[in-house]
Amino acid sequence: MKKKTVRTRFAPSPTGFMHVGSAYQALLDYAFAKKNQGKFILRIEDTDQKRKVPGAEKKIYQALEWLGLEPDESPQKGGPFAPYRQSERLKIYRQYAEKLVKEGKAYYCFCSPQRLEKVRRQRQRQGLPPMYDGHCRHLPPSQVEKNLREGKPFVIRLKVPRNKKIVVNDLLRGEIVFDSNMVDDQVLIKSDGFPTYHLASVVDDHLMEITHVIRGEEWLSSAPKHILLYQYFGWEPPVFVHTPILRNPDRSKMSKREGHTSLFWYKKEGFLPEALLNFLALLGWSHPQQKEIFSLKEFISLFDLKDVSPLGPVFDLRKLEWMNGEYIRQMDDEELGRRLKEFLPRLKEEQVKKAAPLVKERIKKLKEAEELLAFVWEDIDYPKELLLQRGTDKDTAILMLKEAKKIVEEKWGKIEEIRDGLLSLIKEKDWNTGAFFMVFRVAICGKTITPPIVESLELLGKERVIERINAALEKLKT
Ligand code: GLU
Repeated sequence: MKKKTVRTRFAPSPTGFMHVGSAYQALLDYAFAKKNQGKFILRIEDTDQKRKVPGAEKKIYQALEWLGLEPDESPQKGGPFAPYRQSERLKIYRQYAEKLVKEGKAYYCFCSPQRLEKVRRQRQRQGLPPMYDGHCRHLPPSQVEKNLREGKPFVIRLKVPRNKKIVVNDLLRGEIVFDSNMVDDQVLIKSDGFPTYHLASVVDDHLMEITHVIRGEEWLSSAPKHILLYQYFGWEPPVFVHTPILRNPDRSKMSKREGHTSLFWYKKEGFLPEALLNFLALLGWSHPQQKEIFSLKEFISLFDLKDVSPLGPVFDLRKLEWMNGEYIRQMDDEELGRRLKEFLPRLKEEQVKKAAPLVKERIKKLKEAEELLAFVWEDIDYPKELLLQRGTDKDTAILMLKEAKKIVEEKWGKIEEIRDGLLSLIKEKDWNTGAFFMVFRVAICGKTITPPIVESLELLGKERVIERINAALEKLKT
């Protein structure tokens, strides 16, 4: 038999919020497809009209682009199974739902929201799970016809058989057996005519020839409904992979409330997408040589879905920060300059280029460059004492700055010569090197932590350097 082409799909709902866990799903989908010379598909699951947020779909594209996980087929790109946006496929779902109704595997339900609420409360009082009571399962066909003719609002529900075992095969977890009595008669088509996730995703996964459904653990409890749908339609189910929910170091679930669940938070903070992917790859998977830093390409070549551990991996932000710092240090200066640009909008391109090697060893996230370099565009203000904080006395500090100013003025444009000049001055006067540079650094930047100070002079320009030395001298005189 011809081996099927591996096809995976990333199927986000455009709600405006992209969880970092979704990026994890997308990475696994992408890596597994690429590893098997398969296809990675992006499908937009926009059938929940209430949750739809304008502009959210665009964010999904931006997210994948930022991560560098380019789909082979998508609403933007098209493909052999278009359309890839579920709201454009409503007719298809309707047809399949009606087919099930005809075959007695689904049914029209005309129960009012009030009745459903009553049933829910009743079951709750009896300590039963909140499920539909099957009231419309056995409506006589003539009644159904009449209701439909009268235009009564309805939904279509899945007819879940009673007293059956439904077996879900999960690649990571093995066989999981569900008791059908605990499976709700799931709504497949809602009263607004839109399908629910359950129907739409099963129909699409089948029609789009998806071979591996990789999704979060939170969908595991819905899997028996999906298996039942595959059986009812007579379709072969895909391989199911329910990946573990990401946890904080204290093992609590990563919730939306904490800023760092949103993928775009990482972008804003200046994490590099390649570092984030590397970090995500290591959640639930380890490199055969225990390597911590590796490229996406390397991950693709080594990764296999079945090696992912289903135990809740810990999302350790500190480790990600460390990794990001490593990636920054390994990056060539020019590339770093390009990446830094959006974080340093107040600097000219030339300045950003010059700044990149100066901050490289000092930042873990691109955003940190902003604070380190703010002295270039901000007016500085600091108390006099900061100049003297290494124990230098006022008169010595004044002398230091006067002498330094002479050297800077004379040798401007030649960094090496300025440095050598300052070093010989320190030696000649028998000053403490650290103390001298602290006075100099604070005078120029107004801060005690800065990029390498001599190299930083160029960022400010001669005039402003001299101005700042003069201002420090003024301060010291008072
Ligand atoms: N639309 C679902 C979600 O956004 C996708 C779940 C799945 O991958 O099947 O959570």
